[in-house]
Amino acid sequence: MGETTKIAISAAIQAGGSLFTPEQLAKISAAVGADAKIEMTTFKQLYAEVPLERRDAIKEDLERYGLEVYPAGFATKSLIACNFCKGAEETGLDTARTLNKAIAGIETPTPLKIGYAGCALGTSEPLLKDIGVVKMRDRFDIYVGGEPKGLKTFFAKLLVSGLTEDRLVPVVTAIIHFYKAHAKGKEKFSKFVDRVSLEQLQQIAG
Ligand code: SF4
Repeated sequence: MGETTKIAISAAIQAGGSLFTPEQLAKISAAVGADAKIEMTTFKQLYAEVPLERRDAIKEDLERYGLEVYPAGFATKSLIACNFCKGAEETGLDTARTLNKAIAGIETPTPLKIGYAGCALGTSEPLLKDIGVVKMRDRFDIYVGGEPKGLKTFFAKLLVSGLTEDRLVPVVTAIIHFYKAHAKGKEKFSKFVDRVSLEQLQQIAG
């Protein structure tokens, strides 16, 4: 193999969670080739190493089968969503899909994980993500700065509460772009939140 690159493969955001069909798994296998290593990450993406010159063709091929392909590494991951167990409408499935489209694959100083929960039970662990979105009836709360790794773990803090659906994408993308513009080198998002303060981020979100 010549020069290679890693791609991140995700199932679509859907009721039931991160589901792959047998056909999709077979397609992934065929597309990346018999020698590829496929890694199951902790953030619901499959990482596969593919030849650089075939990257775009593989992406198109997998997307035809309803899969999503993003850059691996230093980028926002696809939305880490819950299973939408209380029904598509009540849990905001369409909103989550729109949010995923807006945020997945943005180049960032460190890999960024954005969680979404369709209700306050938060089974997708939104408070352990860099940015966590929780649907509360017909509004949304946004949490920032969760840190699940290492020995000094902490929960994300409430940034804004009671956001209307139309404000969700603008606010989350504004936070991501503010982080991109003002992070010091490869500053972790949780450290960045502490440094710039919740109050300043609230102004960005406002
Ligand atoms: S967060 Fe709520 S709606 Fe989503 S899977 Fe968990 S319990 Fe169901």
